[in-house]
Amino acid sequence: MSSLLPVLVQTPAHSQVGGTLSYLSELALPAGTLVRVPLGRRETLGIVWDAASQDQAEVDSSRLRPIATALTALPPLTAAWRQLVDFAASYYQRAAGEIALAALPPQLRELSSEQLARRLKRPAAAAGGAPATSLPTLTPEQSQVLGQIEAQAGPFLLFGATGSGKTEVYLRCVQTLLEREPDAQALVMVPEINLTPQLEERFAARFGAEVVVSLHSGMTNPQRLKSWLAAHSGAARIVLGTRMAVFASLPKLRLVVVDEEHDPSYKQQEGARYSARDLAVYRGRLEGAKVILGSATPSLESWHHSRPLTEGGRYVRLLMPSRVGDGGALPLVRRVDMNHQPKHAVFSPPLLEALKGRIAKGEQSMVFLNRRGYAPVLHCSDCEWKSECPHCSAFRVFHKIDRTLRCHHCGFTERVPRACPSCGSPDIRPMGRGTEKLEEHLAELLADVQRPDGTPVRIVRIDADTTKLKGELEAQLAQVHAGEVDVLVGTQMIAKGHDFRRITLVAAANPDSALFSSDFRAPERLFSLLMQAAGRAGRDAGISAQSEMWVQTQHPTHPLYENLKKHDYPGFAAQQLKEREQAGLPPYSFQALVRAEARTQETAQAFLNAASTFGTEAAASLNVTLYPAVPMSVQRVANVERAQMLIESPSRAALQRFLAGWHEVLHEVRQGPEGKGLIRWAVDVDPLTI
Ligand code: ADP
Ligand code: ZN
Ligand code: ZN
Repeated sequence: MSSLLPVLVQTPAHSQVGGTLSYLSELALPAGTLVRVPLGRRETLGIVWDAASQDQAEVDSSRLRPIATALTALPPLTAAWRQLVDFAASYYQRAAGEIALAALPPQLRELSSEQLARRLKRPAAAAGGAPATSLPTLTPEQSQVLGQIEAQAGPFLLFGATGSGKTEVYLRCVQTLLEREPDAQALVMVPEINLTPQLEERFAARFGAEVVVSLHSGMTNPQRLKSWLAAHSGAARIVLGTRMAVFASLPKLRLVVVDEEHDPSYKQQEGARYSARDLAVYRGRLEGAKVILGSATPSLESWHHSRPLTEGGRYVRLLMPSRVGDGGALPLVRRVDMNHQPKHAVFSPPLLEALKGRIAKGEQSMVFLNRRGYAPVLHCSDCEWKSECPHCSAFRVFHKIDRTLRCHHCGFTERVPRACPSCGSPDIRPMGRGTEKLEEHLAELLADVQRPDGTPVRIVRIDADTTKLKGELEAQLAQVHAGEVDVLVGTQMIAKGHDFRRITLVAAANPDSALFSSDFRAPERLFSLLMQAAGRAGRDAGISAQSEMWVQTQHPTHPLYENLKKHDYPGFAAQQLKEREQAGLPPYSFQALVRAEARTQETAQAFLNAASTFGTEAAASLNVTLYPAVPMSVQRVANVERAQMLIESPSRAALQRFLAGWHEVLHEVRQGPEGKGLIRWAVDVDPLTI
């Protein structure tokens, strides 16, 4: 007799098939078993799911089909993993099948059970025996923090200055765990793929390469399968990865570290828009694993959660204010009041002098723009024509290197016109400055400056354009580390994470726009970026020079810069949280966005407003506020109009209850007259940009 199995498969994001499909099986396979099942005319990968989610009444047994194969060579995915997927699906309003299947390595779809069995390594016998390298003596702050982590349950927020030795704390926690429990596993997450090799090296050096694996989107499919199998089988004791690693199968997970927890890259920005940081905290609680979030500039949410227990805090705040060793001095922050500098100066005379001084002494400097959005737009001085993208409500950007105009939203690229397309004037030129222009301009200004050995100054630019090819970023970083570069110019990409030991001067060329952004999180991001950038300076104890962070601004007395000058994150956070509380913004409220896309703005908004009308009553009874539909800040991309609607509540639970009920309504409106012409819609819970 065959039994009925609920199987989770990948379903289109908004198909009504939210739960599982039923299949027949000769064997009573346990939940978590990977199977291949027929779906329509294809065969697809599925996971035997928990019976609770199956609606027996809807099963028409005459139409049931048997599963094709069971991948019994692999141990089933654990109950905790399945719960994590179910939670993420319901919290972020997506199908569980979408989340679960996206978390599995693509090659699981192709290989047979036998092939997988061969690739499955036996669990490593060694308990991750640390090679006999000599460990650094812990600083008093590190010892104290490790003691607290040992003694308490967490979750922990490790608030430690850049260079305070947070990574060493993670390493010791992992070490203690591996030594104590012979099969325990640890998950360590970092925001950027670029940071994983560096981290992998450090962990492999400490614990041996055979117990450490990485998981990130930059890996090939065979690499991903290998890492995944090692983690799933327990052979890998340590998994390092980016946000996707939060869904790694780790049957013996006991420790989760989220480094740079404030980083926006932990939020998935398409499909299931989950926050890997938040899911890590949830997963830790689910599996009884300790969770450590680390940052020098925590997200205001996490900072707020780590307020004293007596005030309602939920995280334990751990402090490491000092930098390790005598490279410990934080850089001096210098504000240049651009109101008192020559008009239109991009580099103020005092900053230029400072740069020249560093070059003459053989020291390195870093100049950054806080975003790529500063890139120049082409402009006609006769008719005010600007290089708008014909498909988006955005300007195309001038790329000098291949003389193209490129839209950073839809990718539309054209050769630069010889004359103004509107009036024919030949006088078209870039306005504003991108990194490319900045580098060129700086090279002119520093043309006559020499290094101590009499050779000319060397400037290098690092941004998304110079690092498109594989290996380019590594090569450029190596140049910097080798001291072959005097001035490094780039976007925020260079301000994050990289350990530039020889840089003694960091300059933010033009950071002001974030102070007055419509996005209430812009100041938080700017402060964090500037603190991170400042943290790049003077990390090498061997360099005795006083390092400096320069900020060119027209608002030198802005509280953000005042707090930056004092390296005072708590001061900044207190001021921001006060503003947020007064305005009823997160973390004092909880938000979700519904986005809709259509050929016309009216269609997109009509859908949202109709859904809103049907939700008014429920919203009112739950203390949830529905705002009117508005165009998104980049309203049109690739000829598609985009609108959004904000939903807000002082209670996370109430917002969740509302969204759960409202989901059906959105589906119904989509099918009705107001859904006509709609291309797609999606919900973003806890959105990071509004
Ligand atoms: P963070 O992650 O807080 O920025 P790291 O853990 O990278 O800081 O530490 C900064 C530097 O200090 C690294 O080069 C690291 O090897 C070194 N370091 C960390 N802890 C110690 C220690 N206890 N003694 C000596 N050096 C240390
Ligand atoms: Zn013109
Ligand atoms: Zn475009």
